[in-house]
Amino acid sequence: MKKLLLFALLVSLWSCDPKQGPAKQGTDIVLPSDTVSFTAPKNIIFMVGDGMGLTEITAGMYINGNKLNLEEFKCIGLHKSYSSDNLVTDSAAGATAFACGKKSYNGAISVNDEGKPMPTIMEEAKEQGMSTGIVVTCSIVHATPACFYAHQKSRAYKEQIAADLLEQDVDFFVGGGKKYFARRDADERNLIDELKRKGYVISDFFEKDFNDVSINFKRKFGYFTANEEPIPASQGRDYFVQACKTATEYLSAHDSADKGFFLMIEGSQIDWGGHANNSDYIISEMIEFDEAIGKVMDFAKKDGETLVIVTADHETGGYAINPGSKMDSIIPAFTTPKHTATLIPVFAWGPGAELFRGIYENTAIYHKMKKALGLGPEEAQTGAGKGVGAGGS
Ligand code: MG
Ligand code: ZN
Repeated sequence: MKKLLLFALLVSLWSCDPKQGPAKQGTDIVLPSDTVSFTAPKNIIFMVGDGMGLTEITAGMYINGNKLNLEEFKCIGLHKSYSSDNLVTDSAAGATAFACGKKSYNGAISVNDEGKPMPTIMEEAKEQGMSTGIVVTCSIVHATPACFYAHQKSRAYKEQIAADLLEQDVDFFVGGGKKYFARRDADERNLIDELKRKGYVISDFFEKDFNDVSINFKRKFGYFTANEEPIPASQGRDYFVQACKTATEYLSAHDSADKGFFLMIEGSQIDWGGHANNSDYIISEMIEFDEAIGKVMDFAKKDGETLVIVTADHETGGYAINPGSKMDSIIPAFTTPKHTATLIPVFAWGPGAELFRGIYENTAIYHKMKKALGLGPEEAQTGAGKGVGAGGS
Protein backbone atom coordinates (compact mmCIF):
# COMPACT_ATOMS: atom_id res chain seq x y z
CA MET A 1 0.00 0.00 0.00
CA LYS A 2 2.81 2.37 0.93
CA LYS A 3 4.51 1.58 -2.35
CA LEU A 4 1.31 2.39 -4.21
CA LEU A 5 0.96 5.71 -2.38
CA LEU A 6 4.55 6.61 -3.17
CA PHE A 7 3.94 5.80 -6.80
CA ALA A 8 0.79 7.96 -6.84
CA LEU A 9 2.73 10.80 -5.22
CA LEU A 10 5.51 10.52 -7.79
CA VAL A 11 2.99 10.51 -10.61
CA SER A 12 1.24 13.56 -9.23
CA LEU A 13 4.57 15.33 -8.77
CA TRP A 14 5.47 14.52 -12.35
CA SER A 15 2.17 15.79 -13.66
CA CYS A 16 2.60 18.97 -11.61
CA ASP A 17 5.96 19.62 -13.26
CA PRO A 18 6.08 23.45 -13.38
CA LYS A 19 7.35 23.31 -16.96
CA GLN A 20 4.07 21.73 -17.98
CA GLY A 21 1.76 23.86 -15.87
CA PRO A 22 -2.01 23.77 -16.03
CA ALA A 23 -3.42 23.73 -19.55
CA LYS A 24 -5.39 26.97 -19.78
CA GLN A 25 -7.19 27.87 -22.93
CA GLY A 26 -5.42 30.65 -24.78
CA THR A 27 -2.01 29.91 -23.33
CA ASP A 28 0.92 27.83 -24.50
CA ILE A 29 0.65 24.19 -23.59
CA VAL A 30 3.82 22.14 -23.42
CA LEU A 31 2.78 18.71 -24.53
CA PRO A 32 3.59 15.75 -22.28
CA SER A 33 4.84 13.88 -25.34
CA ASP A 34 7.91 16.19 -25.21
CA THR A 35 9.21 13.63 -22.75
CA VAL A 36 8.34 10.60 -24.89
CA SER A 37 11.27 8.68 -26.31
CA PHE A 38 10.76 7.23 -29.75
CA THR A 39 12.52 5.82 -32.80
CA ALA A 40 12.53 8.16 -35.79
CA PRO A 41 10.63 6.87 -38.84
CA LYS A 42 11.99 7.26 -42.37
CA ASN A 43 8.56 7.62 -44.00
CA ILE A 44 5.20 9.04 -42.95
CA ILE A 45 1.86 7.97 -44.37
CA PHE A 46 -0.76 10.46 -43.19
CA MET A 47 -4.32 9.26 -43.75
CA VAL A 48 -7.40 11.48 -43.35
CA GLY A 49 -10.92 10.11 -43.30
CA ASP A 50 -12.81 13.33 -44.00
CA GLY A 51 -15.73 13.65 -41.58
CA MET A 52 -14.69 10.43 -39.81
CA GLY A 53 -15.75 10.76 -36.18
CA LEU A 54 -16.09 7.89 -33.71
CA THR A 55 -19.62 6.99 -34.83
CA GLU A 56 -18.54 6.76 -38.49
CA ILE A 57 -15.76 4.37 -37.40
CA THR A 58 -18.12 2.41 -35.13
CA ALA A 59 -20.81 1.97 -37.78
CA GLY A 60 -18.22 0.86 -40.36
CA MET A 61 -16.76 -1.60 -37.85
CA TYR A 62 -20.06 -3.29 -36.95
CA ILE A 63 -21.30 -3.53 -40.54
CA ASN A 64 -17.90 -4.93 -41.52
CA GLY A 65 -18.42 -7.92 -39.20
CA ASN A 66 -17.24 -6.16 -36.03
CA LYS A 67 -13.69 -5.65 -37.23
CA LEU A 68 -11.50 -3.00 -38.82
CA ASN A 69 -7.82 -2.83 -39.76
CA LEU A 70 -7.84 0.32 -37.64
CA GLU A 71 -7.98 -1.91 -34.55
CA GLU A 72 -4.30 -2.77 -35.10
CA PHE A 73 -3.29 0.74 -34.03
CA LYS A 74 -2.13 0.83 -30.43
CA CYS A 75 -1.27 4.52 -29.96
CA ILE A 76 -4.47 6.53 -29.88
CA GLY A 77 -5.12 10.18 -29.15
CA LEU A 78 -7.79 12.83 -29.59
CA HIS A 79 -7.51 16.21 -31.27
CA LYS A 80 -9.41 19.46 -30.88
CA SER A 81 -10.58 20.34 -34.37
CA TYR A 82 -11.83 23.96 -34.10
CA SER A 83 -10.51 26.59 -36.52
CA SER A 84 -9.35 30.16 -35.86
CA ASP A 85 -12.77 31.64 -36.61
CA ASN A 86 -15.23 28.87 -35.85
CA LEU A 87 -15.68 26.21 -33.18
CA VAL A 88 -16.86 24.00 -36.07
CA THR A 89 -14.05 23.71 -38.59
CA ASP A 90 -14.32 23.13 -42.30
CA SER A 91 -12.00 20.75 -44.15
CA ALA A 92 -9.77 23.55 -45.45
CA ALA A 93 -8.96 24.97 -41.99
CA GLY A 94 -8.69 21.40 -40.65
CA ALA A 95 -6.14 20.34 -43.28
CA THR A 96 -4.28 23.66 -42.94
CA ALA A 97 -3.80 22.84 -39.24
CA PHE A 98 -2.37 19.38 -40.13
CA ALA A 99 -0.23 20.68 -43.00
CA CYS A 100 1.12 23.89 -41.43
CA GLY A 101 0.71 23.58 -37.66
CA LYS A 102 -1.32 26.80 -37.36
CA LYS A 103 -5.05 27.30 -37.03
CA SER A 104 -6.58 29.48 -39.74
CA TYR A 105 -10.06 30.52 -40.82
CA ASN A 106 -12.62 28.22 -42.46
CA GLY A 107 -11.93 28.12 -46.19
CA ALA A 108 -8.17 28.84 -45.91
CA ILE A 109 -5.84 26.72 -48.06
CA SER A 110 -2.57 26.82 -46.08
CA VAL A 111 -2.61 30.58 -45.58
CA ASN A 112 -2.76 32.27 -42.17
CA ASP A 113 -5.48 34.57 -40.82
CA GLU A 114 -3.91 37.42 -42.83
CA GLY A 115 -3.98 35.36 -46.03
CA LYS A 116 -0.20 34.84 -46.08
CA PRO A 117 1.12 31.44 -47.29
CA MET A 118 2.52 29.12 -44.61
CA PRO A 119 4.99 26.34 -45.45
CA THR A 120 3.43 22.88 -45.47
CA ILE A 121 4.94 19.66 -44.13
CA MET A 122 4.90 18.23 -47.65
CA GLU A 123 6.94 21.17 -48.92
CA GLU A 124 9.33 20.86 -45.98
CA ALA A 125 9.70 17.11 -46.56
CA LYS A 126 10.47 17.83 -50.22
CA GLU A 127 13.14 20.35 -49.22
CA GLN A 128 14.80 17.56 -47.24
CA GLY A 129 14.92 15.44 -50.40
CA MET A 130 12.00 13.21 -49.46
CA SER A 131 9.55 11.96 -52.09
CA THR A 132 5.89 12.99 -51.80
CA GLY A 133 2.55 11.57 -52.83
CA ILE A 134 -1.20 12.22 -52.66
CA VAL A 135 -4.05 9.71 -53.18
CA VAL A 136 -7.65 10.87 -52.68
CA THR A 137 -11.24 9.93 -53.50
CA CYS A 138 -12.18 13.55 -54.29
CA SER A 139 -10.66 15.88 -56.89
CA ILE A 140 -6.97 16.59 -56.37
CA VAL A 141 -7.82 20.32 -55.94
CA HIS A 142 -10.40 19.69 -53.18
CA ALA A 143 -9.71 21.38 -49.82
CA THR A 144 -8.03 18.53 -47.92
CA PRO A 145 -5.35 17.52 -50.46
CA ALA A 146 -4.94 21.14 -51.64
CA CYS A 147 -3.70 22.21 -48.21
CA PHE A 148 -0.60 20.04 -48.62
CA TYR A 149 0.67 21.68 -51.84
CA ALA A 150 -1.30 24.92 -52.48
CA HIS A 151 -1.69 28.34 -50.85
CA GLN A 152 -4.94 30.16 -51.60
CA LYS A 153 -7.22 32.49 -49.65
CA SER A 154 -10.25 30.34 -50.53
CA ARG A 155 -10.90 26.67 -51.17
CA ALA A 156 -13.21 27.83 -53.97
CA TYR A 157 -10.23 28.91 -56.16
CA LYS A 158 -9.87 25.47 -57.68
CA GLU A 159 -8.11 26.49 -60.90
CA GLN A 160 -5.55 28.51 -58.92
CA ILE A 161 -5.08 25.49 -56.64
CA ALA A 162 -4.46 23.34 -59.75
CA ALA A 163 -1.84 25.85 -60.92
CA ASP A 164 -0.17 25.62 -57.49
CA LEU A 165 0.40 21.90 -58.08
CA LEU A 166 2.70 22.90 -60.96
CA GLU A 167 4.84 24.86 -58.50
CA GLN A 168 5.40 21.72 -56.41
CA ASP A 169 7.13 18.52 -57.35
CA VAL A 170 4.64 16.07 -55.87
CA ASP A 171 6.07 12.80 -57.18
CA PHE A 172 2.89 10.74 -57.30
CA PHE A 173 -0.72 11.84 -57.29
CA VAL A 174 -4.06 10.13 -57.93
CA GLY A 175 -7.43 11.89 -57.72
CA GLY A 176 -10.22 13.54 -59.69
CA GLY A 177 -10.48 17.07 -61.07
CA LYS A 178 -9.01 16.78 -64.58
CA LYS A 179 -11.10 19.72 -65.83
CA TYR A 180 -9.32 22.18 -63.53
CA PHE A 181 -6.12 21.29 -65.39
CA ALA A 182 -7.30 20.70 -68.94
CA ARG A 183 -10.28 22.96 -69.66
CA ARG A 184 -9.84 26.04 -67.56
CA ASP A 185 -12.15 29.06 -67.38
CA ALA A 186 -9.58 31.51 -66.00
CA ASP A 187 -6.91 31.08 -68.69
CA GLU A 188 -5.86 29.10 -71.76
CA ARG A 189 -3.21 27.06 -69.95
CA ASN A 190 -3.25 23.30 -70.34
CA LEU A 191 -1.72 22.17 -67.07
CA ILE A 192 -1.63 18.55 -68.18
CA ASP A 193 0.70 19.46 -71.05
CA GLU A 194 2.72 21.54 -68.58
CA LEU A 195 2.98 18.60 -66.18
CA LYS A 196 4.17 16.39 -69.06
CA ARG A 197 6.80 18.98 -69.98
CA LYS A 198 7.96 18.84 -66.36
CA GLY A 199 8.61 15.13 -66.83
CA TYR A 200 5.38 13.64 -65.47
CA VAL A 201 3.71 10.58 -66.91
CA ILE A 202 0.04 11.66 -66.84
CA SER A 203 -2.88 9.37 -67.50
CA ASP A 204 -6.59 9.38 -66.70
CA PHE A 205 -9.80 7.39 -66.34
CA PHE A 206 -10.68 8.01 -69.98
CA GLU A 207 -7.41 6.53 -71.32
CA LYS A 208 -7.23 3.45 -69.13
CA ASP A 209 -8.38 1.96 -65.87
CA PHE A 210 -6.03 2.74 -62.99
CA ASN A 211 -5.59 -0.96 -62.36
CA ASP A 212 -4.16 -1.35 -65.92
CA VAL A 213 -1.63 1.49 -65.64
CA SER A 214 2.02 0.43 -65.61
CA ILE A 215 4.21 2.75 -63.60
CA ASN A 216 7.75 3.86 -64.30
CA PHE A 217 9.36 4.36 -60.91
CA LYS A 218 11.87 6.82 -62.38
CA ARG A 219 9.28 9.31 -63.68
CA LYS A 220 6.86 11.47 -61.73
CA PHE A 221 3.32 10.14 -61.99
CA GLY A 222 -0.17 11.62 -62.06
CA TYR A 223 -3.51 9.97 -62.75
CA PHE A 224 -6.90 11.71 -62.95
CA THR A 225 -9.76 9.51 -61.80
CA ALA A 226 -12.59 11.83 -62.91
CA ASN A 227 -13.27 15.10 -64.70
CA GLU A 228 -14.66 16.57 -61.49
CA GLU A 229 -15.44 14.59 -58.35
CA PRO A 230 -15.08 10.77 -58.42
CA ILE A 231 -18.24 8.72 -57.88
CA PRO A 232 -18.96 6.99 -54.53
CA ALA A 233 -17.47 3.53 -53.87
CA SER A 234 -21.01 2.07 -53.82
CA GLN A 235 -21.48 3.23 -57.44
CA GLY A 236 -18.34 1.54 -58.72
CA ARG A 237 -15.32 3.72 -57.79
CA ASP A 238 -12.60 1.07 -57.53
CA TYR A 239 -9.16 2.70 -57.84
CA PHE A 240 -8.58 3.90 -54.27
CA VAL A 241 -7.33 0.79 -52.46
CA GLN A 242 -5.06 -0.20 -55.37
CA ALA A 243 -3.76 3.38 -55.72
CA CYS A 244 -2.77 3.44 -52.03
CA LYS A 245 -0.85 0.19 -52.53
CA THR A 246 0.78 1.43 -55.73
CA ALA A 247 1.73 4.71 -54.02
CA THR A 248 3.68 2.87 -51.30
CA GLU A 249 5.42 0.69 -53.93
CA TYR A 250 6.23 3.72 -56.08
CA LEU A 251 7.48 5.97 -53.28
CA SER A 252 9.65 3.28 -51.73
CA ALA A 253 11.28 2.50 -55.11
CA HIS A 254 11.53 6.10 -56.39
CA ASP A 255 14.89 7.85 -57.02
CA SER A 256 15.00 9.59 -53.66
CA ALA A 257 13.72 6.51 -51.80
CA ASP A 258 16.77 6.55 -49.50
CA LYS A 259 15.60 9.92 -48.11
CA GLY A 260 12.16 8.60 -47.23
CA PHE A 261 8.72 9.81 -48.29
CA PHE A 262 5.63 11.66 -47.11
CA LEU A 263 2.37 10.23 -48.48
CA MET A 264 -0.99 11.87 -47.84
CA ILE A 265 -4.10 9.74 -48.37
CA GLU A 266 -7.70 10.87 -48.01
CA GLY A 267 -10.94 8.89 -47.84
CA SER A 268 -12.77 12.05 -48.89
CA GLN A 269 -16.35 10.92 -49.18
CA ILE A 270 -17.09 9.69 -45.65
CA ASP A 271 -17.82 13.42 -45.19
CA TRP A 272 -20.16 13.52 -48.18
CA GLY A 273 -22.20 10.67 -46.72
CA GLY A 274 -22.42 12.72 -43.52
CA HIS A 275 -23.59 15.84 -45.36
CA ALA A 276 -26.23 13.73 -47.09
CA ASN A 277 -27.24 12.20 -43.70
CA ASN A 278 -26.89 8.90 -45.53
CA SER A 279 -25.70 6.16 -43.20
CA ASP A 280 -25.13 3.60 -45.99
CA TYR A 281 -22.97 6.11 -47.89
CA ILE A 282 -20.89 6.78 -44.76
CA ILE A 283 -20.46 3.07 -44.05
CA SER A 284 -19.43 2.02 -47.57
CA GLU A 285 -16.86 4.85 -47.72
CA MET A 286 -15.62 4.01 -44.21
CA ILE A 287 -15.14 0.32 -45.06
CA GLU A 288 -13.26 1.17 -48.27
CA PHE A 289 -11.05 3.62 -46.34
CA ASP A 290 -10.30 0.85 -43.85
CA GLU A 291 -9.36 -1.48 -46.73
CA ALA A 292 -6.86 1.17 -47.83
CA ILE A 293 -5.57 1.27 -44.24
CA GLY A 294 -5.05 -2.49 -44.53
CA LYS A 295 -2.90 -2.08 -47.66
CA VAL A 296 -0.89 0.69 -46.02
CA MET A 297 -0.36 -1.49 -42.94
CA ASP A 298 0.82 -4.40 -45.13
CA PHE A 299 3.50 -2.07 -46.49
CA ALA A 300 4.38 -0.50 -43.14
CA LYS A 301 4.80 -3.88 -41.43
CA LYS A 302 7.16 -5.12 -44.15
CA ASP A 303 9.04 -1.81 -44.29
CA GLY A 304 9.47 -1.29 -40.54
CA GLU A 305 10.52 2.36 -40.93
CA THR A 306 7.13 3.89 -41.67
CA LEU A 307 4.95 5.87 -39.28
CA VAL A 308 1.26 5.58 -40.19
CA ILE A 309 -1.18 8.16 -38.82
CA VAL A 310 -4.94 7.96 -39.35
CA THR A 311 -7.25 10.78 -38.29
CA ALA A 312 -10.09 13.01 -39.49
CA ASP A 313 -10.44 16.76 -39.88
CA HIS A 314 -13.84 16.79 -38.10
CA GLU A 315 -17.02 14.80 -37.70
CA THR A 316 -19.91 15.32 -40.12
CA GLY A 317 -23.64 14.98 -39.48
CA GLY A 318 -23.73 14.55 -35.72
CA TYR A 319 -24.13 10.89 -36.63
CA ALA A 320 -25.46 8.52 -33.94
CA ILE A 321 -26.25 4.80 -33.70
CA ASN A 322 -29.69 4.74 -32.10
CA PRO A 323 -31.43 2.19 -29.86
CA GLY A 324 -32.78 -0.80 -31.75
CA SER A 325 -29.63 -1.03 -33.89
CA LYS A 326 -28.04 -4.42 -34.45
CA MET A 327 -24.50 -5.19 -35.54
CA ASP A 328 -25.69 -5.83 -39.08
CA SER A 329 -28.39 -3.13 -39.18
CA ILE A 330 -27.65 0.33 -37.87
CA ILE A 331 -30.53 2.65 -37.03
CA PRO A 332 -28.90 6.01 -37.68
CA ALA A 333 -29.75 9.51 -36.50
CA PHE A 334 -28.23 12.85 -37.42
CA THR A 335 -28.26 16.24 -35.71
CA THR A 336 -27.19 18.33 -38.73
CA PRO A 337 -26.27 18.16 -42.41
CA LYS A 338 -23.10 20.12 -41.48
CA HIS A 339 -19.93 19.40 -39.52
CA THR A 340 -19.74 19.10 -35.74
CA ALA A 341 -17.10 20.09 -33.18
CA THR A 342 -16.61 16.81 -31.30
CA LEU A 343 -13.10 15.56 -30.40
CA ILE A 344 -11.54 13.56 -33.22
CA PRO A 345 -9.54 10.33 -32.79
CA VAL A 346 -5.92 10.00 -33.96
CA PHE A 347 -4.46 6.53 -34.57
CA ALA A 348 -0.71 6.03 -34.94
CA TRP A 349 1.35 2.92 -35.74
CA GLY A 350 5.07 2.38 -36.27
CA PRO A 351 8.22 4.26 -35.20
CA GLY A 352 7.22 7.58 -33.58
CA ALA A 353 3.63 6.45 -32.89
CA GLU A 354 4.11 7.09 -29.16
CA LEU A 355 4.08 10.85 -29.85
CA PHE A 356 0.41 10.74 -30.77
CA ARG A 357 -1.05 9.65 -27.43
CA GLY A 358 -3.04 12.18 -25.40
CA ILE A 359 -5.41 15.05 -26.08
CA TYR A 360 -4.07 17.97 -28.11
CA GLU A 361 -4.87 20.62 -30.71
CA ASN A 362 -5.19 19.53 -34.36
CA THR A 363 -2.14 21.73 -35.05
CA ALA A 364 -0.02 19.52 -32.76
CA ILE A 365 -0.22 16.76 -35.37
CA TYR A 366 1.99 18.83 -37.70
CA HIS A 367 4.56 19.39 -34.94
CA LYS A 368 4.50 15.73 -33.92
CA MET A 369 5.09 14.63 -37.52
CA LYS A 370 7.97 17.09 -37.87
CA LYS A 371 9.46 15.99 -34.60
CA ALA A 372 9.17 12.34 -35.66
CA LEU A 373 11.00 13.10 -38.92
CA GLY A 374 13.63 15.15 -37.09
CA LEU A 375 12.63 18.27 -39.03
CA GLY A 376 11.93 20.41 -35.99
CA PRO A 377 11.01 20.54 -32.33
CA GLU A 378 7.50 19.74 -31.21
CA GLU A 379 6.61 23.35 -30.49
CA ALA A 380 4.23 24.58 -27.82
CA GLN A 381 0.70 24.83 -29.08
CA THR A 382 -1.51 27.84 -28.73
CA GLY A 383 -5.12 27.03 -28.09
CA ALA A 384 -6.82 30.32 -28.76
CA GLY A 385 -10.37 29.26 -29.35
CA LYS A 386 -13.25 31.64 -29.37
CA GLY A 387 -15.24 30.65 -32.43
CA VAL A 388 -18.85 29.57 -32.32
CA GLY A 389 -21.41 29.03 -35.01
CA ALA A 390 -22.33 26.69 -37.82
CA GLY A 391 -19.59 24.85 -39.67
CA GLY A 392 -18.51 24.89 -43.29
CA SER A 393 -18.60 22.17 -45.91
MG1 MG B 1 -11.74 16.43 -47.70
ZN1 ZN C 1 -17.69 18.42 -45.20
